Amino acid sequence: MRAVDAVTRVPILNGSFDPLTLSQTVDRMMDMARSGARGYVCTVNVAILMMMRADPRLQTFIDGAALIVADGQPLIWVSSWLGKRLPERVTGIDLIETVCDRAQNTGVGVYFLGARREIINAAADQLKSRYPDLKVAGVDDGYFTDEEARGRAEAISRSGANILIVAMGVPRQEHFLEQHLDKTGVNVAMGVGGSFDVLAGLRSRAPHWIQKIGFEWLYRLAQEPGRLWRRYFSTNLQFLKLISGELLLGQQRRMTKHNRDEDSE
Ligand code: UDP
Repeated sequence: MRAVDAVTRVPILNGSFDPLTLSQTVDRMMDMARSGARGYVCTVNVAILMMMRADPRLQTFIDGAALIVADGQPLIWVSSWLGKRLPERVTGIDLIETVCDRAQNTGVGVYFLGARREIINAAADQLKSRYPDLKVAGVDDGYFTDEEARGRAEAISRSGANILIVAMGVPRQEHFLEQHLDKTGVNVAMGVGGSFDVLAGLRSRAPHWIQKIGFEWLYRLAQEPGRLWRRYFSTNLQFLKLISGELLLGQQRRMTKHNRDEDSE
């Protein structure tokens, strides 16, 4: 199901994004949760966008999302350079917090799946203390085999949850949803990468000003350089190359049109 008319999506390279603010995204998620719909929300950053190019399965899954939001300041800048501005960055953590806040006292139950057991328990405790009127339908860790996945999905279904938040990294969480979303019985699911690690305090989030200038990836890289440098270096470089090509092409098209208009005058 699509929560926003397809024509309104903003294309950037191989991705397309719904031009929604954080608040509007959560409004739509809450509408889906209450209306008995079934769909999923994807937050896409530059690294995921590049991953999608190399992984048709991931590309197809994300293209089929009810909502796709841009989780990265560079994507917001690029959207306005390409002529259709996305209103703001929408991150997984901000979505979790805002969904938990809005779901309070509504009867909408939220289920948290992903990360190591002690981490997800700490993250869930943190959210319960900040949003005391939140109905937590269930909590489970993200370490299970393919054979166990069905059992996890059935446990979610028994919990009666309306919203499922999965944080198992990309593309693990997408594969789980692709195969088992129907069995979970939830109305809305959302993949949020490593957000529970941040909520539990295992990793910290970049200060607001670093996020604003588009360098949160560098902050994350500084926390796990050994594991992440190759990923960030190659995906950022590839993105820069592709976007420069796109911008040059746009410039050429504008010049050609301008010359044609002048000739016809
Ligand atoms: N994770 C999980 N199940 C797995 C592997 C990872 O739940 O089988 C969790 C992990 O504990 C972390 C999150 O997924 O909370 C993101 O993991 P990681 O940083 O390894 O993913 P990446 O950023 O590399 O996609």
